[in-house]
Amino acid sequence: MRRKLAAGNWKMHGLAADLDQVDALSVAHPAPECDILICPPATLIARMAERAAGSAIHVGGQDCHHADAGAHTGEISAPMLADAGATHVILGHSERRADHGESDALVRAKAEAAHRAGLTAIICVGETETERDDGRTLDVIGTQLSGSLPATARAQNTVIAYEPVWAIGTGRTPSAEQIAEVHAHLRARLVELIPGGDDVRLLYGGSVKPSNAAQIFAIPNVDGALVGGASLKAADFSAIITAL
Ligand code: 13P
Repeated sequence: MRRKLAAGNWKMHGLAADLDQVDALSVAHPAPECDILICPPATLIARMAERAAGSAIHVGGQDCHHADAGAHTGEISAPMLADAGATHVILGHSERRADHGESDALVRAKAEAAHRAGLTAIICVGETETERDDGRTLDVIGTQLSGSLPATARAQNTVIAYEPVWAIGTGRTPSAEQIAEVHAHLRARLVELIPGGDDVRLLYGGSVKPSNAAQIFAIPNVDGALVGGASLKAADFSAIITAL
């Protein structure tokens, strides 16, 4: 039985005042039936982890470097995230693949670094609208998965997030059939690629909101959500957690 995961990706949003959301969520969900994770900007990780101590809320990073330390100005390593109180890190988000040219090989190296530091890697995959229109969705996603997944990946330290690029921040979501098709494909590939692949959690991400969460969570092989915009408001994220 895969325990569900509600993960919020704050992206480049959040100042100290927004840490109040942690209090609101921990009061609303003292003993949740799913795991709850918030990935704030790096500047807030340590303070959020302190604020979340003793609650059911986990804190994660949004990226890490593939090296454990070194002369890499402006970068943050996986051991630093762990030291700040993070337990998870999002890797290979499509915004980083697009804005920073991150390749599957780089994402895999980052995931290895995350595992060395004891972090759970949330590896993101997803097709662009053109790739979907060209009928290449499953190919693209299969290639991203096998290229980004390190040999160290197991159900205990790895989560996969399917985030169609065209559904992120657009208010558009794939049909239930489209999500089911991709998640079934990811599940089949995971079973081939790693021991215990059946136990790896598969998140859906892309315009998840309170009004569509229950419908999305009812789809087979959807083990939770990676939520952007709707995770910025505690009330909305709370409603999504309740729908899981
Ligand atoms: P939205 O929920 O804002 O569409 O963002 C999804 C996402 O990119 C989460 O990582």
